[in-house]
Amino acid sequence: PVQAGIVGLPNVGKSTLFNAITKAGAEAANYPFCTIEPNVGMVEVPDRRMDKLAEMVKPNRTVPAVVRFVDIAGLVRGASKGEGLGNKFLSHIREVDAIIHVVRCFEDPDVTHVDGQVGPSRDIDTIELELILADLEAVERRMDRVQKMLKSQDKAALAEMAVLKKLKAGFEDTQPVRSMEWSPEEAEIVKSLFLITAKPVLYVANVDEADVAAPDNARVQEVRERAKREGAGVVVICAKIEAEIAELTDDEERRMFLEELGLEESGLDRLVRETYTLLGLITYFTAGVQEVRAWTILQGTKAPQAAGVIHTDFERGFIRAEVTGYDDLIAAGSQVAAREKGVQRLEGKEYVMRDGDVVHFRFNV
Ligand code: GDP
Repeated sequence: PVQAGIVGLPNVGKSTLFNAITKAGAEAANYPFCTIEPNVGMVEVPDRRMDKLAEMVKPNRTVPAVVRFVDIAGLVRGASKGEGLGNKFLSHIREVDAIIHVVRCFEDPDVTHVDGQVGPSRDIDTIELELILADLEAVERRMDRVQKMLKSQDKAALAEMAVLKKLKAGFEDTQPVRSMEWSPEEAEIVKSLFLITAKPVLYVANVDEADVAAPDNARVQEVRERAKREGAGVVVICAKIEAEIAELTDDEERRMFLEELGLEESGLDRLVRETYTLLGLITYFTAGVQEVRAWTILQGTKAPQAAGVIHTDFERGFIRAEVTGYDDLIAAGSQVAAREKGVQRLEGKEYVMRDGDVVHFRFNV
C-alpha cells in the first residue's frame, strides 16, 4: 500500500494523531501482506462508491484500499548534527511515498512549545532544515564515491557529479529538492538518489478544538501560504478531536458527533483523501461475488500495469479488460444489464485506466 510518514517537532500533536490513526485503523489481520509494527497504523481509504458496489453485488467481503502511516520519531532541532540522524529514522523515512508534516496551530498554555511560542512557519523551517541536512550528508557521501569513478572518465559518473554539485549548492541555500528545477535527464538521476526532501509533503495544521469548523486563523494561513509556494497540500484538523472520533465505533454515533462539530467527515478521512490527491493516485474496482475490492494505481496507468497490481501474472498474460465506468454500472443496475446496454467496453493494452473503472481482466496463464 501507499506509505505516508508522520514528522513534526515535539509537542505538536503527532502522537495524538497517530493514536487516532491506530484506533480508527483497519484490522491488521485483514492485511496479511503487510507487517504491522508499533509505529505503523493502517487507515482505509473512504470511498462511498465501494459501499454502493457492495450493495449491488452483495459479495462475501469487501476490501478497501489502505494507506500505511508510519510514525517517524526522532526529529528535533539539531537531530542531523553530531551523531547524525539515526539509521532507523533514515530507513523509515526513505521508504515512504509522502511526508505528513504536523504543524502546531493550536495555542495551549499548558502545552509547552520547544521554542517558547507557536510559530508555524518557523517550525516548518526547523524540520525542513534537518531533512535538508540529512540529504546533504547523503549527497556528500555519494560525491566521495562518484569522485573515484570519475578517474575512468565515466560519462554516467560525470553526469551524476554535476547533479550532486547542483544538489549540494541547493541544500546549502536551504532549498529542498522539491523546490529545485531539473531537466528530465537530471530528474532521473535525482530520483535514483532517494532523497528525503524530494518527497511530496502534506502539511497537517493541528488547530484548537474551537477552531476546527471555523474559517482559517492566522496560523493556518501561514501554513497555507507556505504550502502554496512549495506546491504542497494542507489539511486542517484537530488531533484531539480525531482521537475522540476514533473512540466511536458506531457509525451513527460518529455521524452525529461530526454533525455537532459542523464537519462532514473526519479529519483522518480528509487526510487519506488528500494523500491520494497529492500522489496522483486513483482507484479502480474489481467486483465479483467473492469480493468487491478497491485497487490503487497512479493516474495514467495502462490496463496491463493496472492488472499487474493484482498479480504479476495478470500483467504478463494480459489479453484485454472488460471495463464499465462506475456511473454507467450503477445506472445499469447490474453487470449483466451493463453488458446488455452496451456500456461495458472491451479495452486493450493501450487503454489508460480511469478513476472508478470497474474491471474484469482476461489473461493467459
Ligand atoms: P507530539 O510530541 O508531537 O507527539 O505531541 P502529542 O501528541 O504528545 O501532544 C502534545 C500535547 O499537546 C498533549 O498534551 C496533547 O494533548 C496536546 N494536543 C495535541 N493536539 C492538540 C489539539 O489539537 N489541541 C490542543 N488543545 N491540544 C493538543
